[in-house]
Amino acid sequence: MTNATVTPSNAGDETGADYDYDLFVIGAGSGGVRASRIAAGFGARVAVAEEYRVGGTCVIRGCVPKKLFVYASHFSEDFESAAGFGWTADKPRFDWPTLIANKDREIDRLNGLFIQTLQNAGVDIIDGRATVAGPHAVEVAGRRITARYILLATGGWPSMPDIPGIEHAITSNEAFHLENLPQRIVVVGGGYIAVEFAGIFNGLGVEVTQLYRGEQILRGFDRDLRDRLAHEMRGKGIDLRTETCVTTIEKTDTGVRLHLTDDGTLDAGAVMYATGRTPKIDGLGLETAGVDLDANGGVKVDAYGKTSADSIYAVGDITNRMHLTPVAIKEGHAFALTVFGGRPTSPEYDAVPTAVFSQPAIGTVGLTEEEARAQYGDIAVFTSDFRPMVHTLGGLSERSFIKLVVDRATDRVLGAHMVGMDAAEIIQGVAIAVKAGLTKADFDAAVAVHPSSAEEFVLLR
Ligand code: FAD
Ligand code: NDP
Repeated sequence: MTNATVTPSNAGDETGADYDYDLFVIGAGSGGVRASRIAAGFGARVAVAEEYRVGGTCVIRGCVPKKLFVYASHFSEDFESAAGFGWTADKPRFDWPTLIANKDREIDRLNGLFIQTLQNAGVDIIDGRATVAGPHAVEVAGRRITARYILLATGGWPSMPDIPGIEHAITSNEAFHLENLPQRIVVVGGGYIAVEFAGIFNGLGVEVTQLYRGEQILRGFDRDLRDRLAHEMRGKGIDLRTETCVTTIEKTDTGVRLHLTDDGTLDAGAVMYATGRTPKIDGLGLETAGVDLDANGGVKVDAYGKTSADSIYAVGDITNRMHLTPVAIKEGHAFALTVFGGRPTSPEYDAVPTAVFSQPAIGTVGLTEEEARAQYGDIAVFTSDFRPMVHTLGGLSERSFIKLVVDRATDRVLGAHMVGMDAAEIIQGVAIAVKAGLTKADFDAAVAVHPSSAEEFVLLR
């Protein structure tokens, strides 16, 4: 550990007070770990408090275990396709406890790596729930610790509507540790987590009903992608019902009975709510330090992540910006550069690519067709609707769809969208071009990789 203290580039406190640390980070998740490591690299004395497990939501109960579950569930279709290629895979069987045990082992490994990374960087890890006790003070594990800067990186927490019987519902947190797979599950919500888990459970052989309150899932995504994904999900056997809410949940001998707004009932082994996540600020003591919240209950920050208290910054899901791991990491890094690296850095939020690991997956970057039309007026839209080659012999009916949205005045590609096999992998490369402001002519000038699905992005005419 290095003990050389840096002179923070924009110190909020000029009293020369002797603090225990230069930086105290609350929360060792995506944003907190990156900020801690980079700040320590600049010579800052850093401590991070973690109340659950180092790694945070993404590693412990988010992106990573979710993606492992997506892989697991996809095998059912892979076995089905394999027959068309000459393989015989008689009666494949799936064992949930094996998946859970292997997933847990991998999460333990990653948790260990994150701890090691922090230790190698000289960051002190303090187990326990920390609270803010003033502009330069926190309380954790019965100790009061002072720091020149405090970084709030506590992430978010599932939020559920307050309806009778909601205590019988699970969230994604519990879904990662179910003892048994239910025969039937109801997933409530139409966002990322709901569509991802509806696909996971369906692929693993659970009968899935998904209930969404609006007229189409994935509000905010390109309309064609939303419609196509809903169609494909139904085609794979998911009972997706829109404009339907749950009014009451009853516990039964076999699970739950849901009473619906259309007066119907649904019996299932379990009901999982994925109705959004809210910044984790309860009992954090923000009022003691004068940290203001925005209208949606997130911590209000400026372009550099600084809160209304000069010595306190916030990154990641505790703020209401983009709730994605790479964004939290960028924000954590930018904070460390700004405060300890002498390079004021404000993260950019345009052309942030994102994937929904639904089945099939969505990959998207830039403006949707609807947003582009509203902002630019005169746009050109190029689409391709095709059957991935693997399904020609594999026999699955799933199709892929891609779209480029182009500003007619400048020929610049404003948005690129895909739903279909490998969409998450493909969109990363396309995102570089969209972020760089390349034109449709640049896309056209690129030579295709053949045969692939990705080539469709350079063959649109
Ligand atoms: P977190 O990673 O949530 O870390 C916050 C940490 O703070 C936690 O470890 C928590 O225990 C700790 N903490 C909270 N309060 C205190 C306290 N008072 N004292 C001490 N410690 C505290 N994003 C993607 O980009 N791709 C995905 O595929 C993806 N999949 C997801 C799947 C699921 C099921 C979920 C729930 C989220 C997913 N996300 C995904 C979102 C992503 O996980 C978050 O955006 C990201 O983890 C936010 O990072 P963070 O640093 O803000 O907070
Ligand atoms: P989202 O905000 O994505 O979706 C919440 C869903 O719940 C919406 O469909 C919303 O409907 C619905 N909803 C909200 N309140 C209610 C209510 N009271 N009753 C019924 N339905 C309701 O949240 P998620 O929980 O799915 O995920 C949280 C965030 O985590 C995501 O937004 C994303 O940023 C991140 N994440 C990222 C992933 C990835 O990158 N692949 C994967 C998982 C999570 P409406 O649309 O009408 O508001």
